[in-house]
Parts: sequence; structure tokens; C-alpha cells
Amino acid sequence: MEEELRQSQKMEAVGQLTGGIAHDFNNLLTVISGNLEMIESRVADPQILELLREAQDAADDGAKLTGQLLAFGRRQPLNPKPTDVAQLVTNFAGLLRRTLGETVELRTVVTGSSHLALIDGSQLQNALLNLVLNARDAMPRGGRLTVEVSRSVLDRDYAEMYPGVRSGSFVLVSVTDTGSGMTAEVKQRAFEPFFTTKGVSSGTGLGLSMVYGFVKQSGGHVQLYSEPGQGTSVRLFLPSTGVQKAGPAGQAGAEPEALP
Ligand code: ADP
Repeated sequence: MEEELRQSQKMEAVGQLTGGIAHDFNNLLTVISGNLEMIESRVADPQILELLREAQDAADDGAKLTGQLLAFGRRQPLNPKPTDVAQLVTNFAGLLRRTLGETVELRTVVTGSSHLALIDGSQLQNALLNLVLNARDAMPRGGRLTVEVSRSVLDRDYAEMYPGVRSGSFVLVSVTDTGSGMTAEVKQRAFEPFFTTKGVSSGTGLGLSMVYGFVKQSGGHVQLYSEPGQGTSVRLFLPSTGVQKAGPAGQAGAEPEALP
């Protein structure tokens, strides 16, 4: 419980701070970009033009980063609606496949029926994209990514074992890769805002914390299974719209720490 609280307070504080900084920084970048463009239009020397272009690229990278930070800091209000998660994943599969490139095989699996969850669909798309980008990074030499949509009932006994988990009926989205996996240290810190092992130029450390924030705000919860050298599975339990009684213990799915 304490861990959950610590995480959400940290997210809140970091969100407010980054929102403010990103906003001001974005204004500065707009000035830099505008001036660079103006100078570029008046310069003929190719060497100087090249330098200006490099500076413009750096400013563009900076703007991309502040854009992400703003989205994170703003914590866009959720617009939850009953959403057919299986349909959403199926419709989004083309874009995910293109994102993964040719070396990673994407499999989408829908198990059972009635996959209506009360969520903001566009935020689920964002979350999926973040997870798929991470999976792609974890499989530089290719592999397989499976996105599975099913239903899961978490009973009270199960919920009591894990802090912050509430019992009930959920639509479960599992995103499983056959990539590098995470060490115990990385796994422990993976959801922390700004924690990245990818270096400042390629990672922001905000992907998983955004996923976490979205699922928590929706009233669901997230499980992470990962083994070095074997792969990673991120499971999003999204609150189901249907009211359903919790089933017997053991229906909750795989035991934590075990990779499927
Ligand atoms: P970023 O991708 O910008 O580093 P994230 O918050 O998405 O930020 O991820 C934090 C860290 O968790 C990554 O730097 C990486 O070490 C680890 N990670 C996340 N997803 C995976 C994955 N699918 N496989 C292996 N490691 C992962």
C-alpha cells in the first residue's frame, strides 16, 4: 500500500513540475526555432546553412520532448466511455505492426467475448503505442509480440494479497514480447517517471509511467512480468463495464513473478 501511495504522490509532484517547466521551455524553443528560420532564409553559405540545420534539428528534438512532457504533466482529463477493447486493439493492429517493422511478428489474440471496458480509448491507444515501442527496443534482432485481450475476474482474496488492487471484473490486455527482459533492479524502477536505461537521447523514461497513470486513473491496475533474456509481459487490467460477481480464487491469471 505504502509503495502505491509513494508512487502516486511522486507522479503527482513530477507531473506538476514537468508541466510547468515544459511549458516555459517550449516557449523558449519556439523563439529559438523562429530565429533560426529567419537567419536560414538570409544565409547563402552552405557550411553555415548546415550548422543552422543541425541547430534546427536539435530544437525540433527538444520540442518533441517538451510535447511529451506537457502531455505527461497535463495528465489530460480522462474521457471514459464504454469501449470495446478487442475492437480497439484489432483496429489499431495495423499501426502497431508498422511501428514494429518487419523483424518483429505481431500476433493479436482475442479470448472470449464481451470486452467492454470503461476507459478513454485514445489513452489506451497511447498506452499500447508506448508498450509496443518498448517491445521494439527490447527486440533489436526481431522476435514476437503478442497482444492478447481477454477477461479476468480478480476476487477479494487475490486483491488483498496485492496493495492497491481492487477485486472485480476486468478486461485484461496483455502485451508480451520475446525481448531482452529486465533485471530485478530495472523491473523495480520501471514505472518511475524519468527512469530509463536507454540514455537521454533515446529514452524519456515516461512511457511506462504514462501507462501506469492511465490505468490507475481508470480504476484498473497493472502487472509486470519480466525475466532477463526471456521477455516481458505488461498486463493492463481495465475495469469492465459489466457488473459481474468475483469468481473463486485462482481465476486471476498467472502468479506474479512467473512469465507466461
Ligand atoms: P523509456 O522507454 O523512455 O526508457 P519507459 O518508462 O517506457 O521509458 O521504460 C523504462 C525502462 O524500462 C526502459 O528504459 C527499459 O529499461 C525498461 N523496459 C520497458 N519496457 C521494456 C521491455 N518491453 N523490455 C525490456 N525492458 C523494458
